[in-house]
Amino acid sequence: MGIEERGYFTLDEVLQLPGCPPQEQLAGRRLAVVECGHEIPCNPCETSCARGALTVGETITSLPVLDAERCDGCGSCMADCPGLAIFVVDLTRGDGRAEVWLPHEFLPVPAPGAVVVVAVVAAALVAPSPSFVREIRIGRGMFLSQ
Ligand code: SF4
Ligand code: SF4
Repeated sequence: MGIEERGYFTLDEVLQLPGCPPQEQLAGRRLAVVECGHEIPCNPCETSCARGALTVGETITSLPVLDAERCDGCGSCMADCPGLAIFVVDLTRGDGRAEVWLPHEFLPVPAPGAVVVVAVVAAALVAPSPSFVREIRIGRGMFLSQ
């Protein structure tokens, strides 16, 4: 089954995208993960990044390329992406848990403290096993826990 039928990228597909940081660079850092793979004419992610960490280039249908060395995980590109294709993965907590920031279009907006089950492939980058529970705690970020 391809992405068109499935509706989302698999982890293996995300890892092949030029907007996905190398997994070895995630440790102890907060980085953008760009799940953008459709070669559409679009580049707000590039123009929103003050650090020059995302490049689409002159051919506006090119896939965005992340320079993980420049990215500080500020999330500006995530806020400006019309495709909701950018997540921020934060491994700076130092308590064995990861935090994932994600854009959403839930309506009605879940109340603070609500638990919403979602599939976020970027989260799999930091989850040691598929059995991890993935929760969004609205207003407090998203945490992974066993
Ligand atoms: S998270 Fe911030 S620094 Fe990283 S690519 Fe996005 S805008 Fe640039
Ligand atoms: S703004 Fe979003 S949808 Fe547009 S090219 Fe960048 S990552 Fe892809």
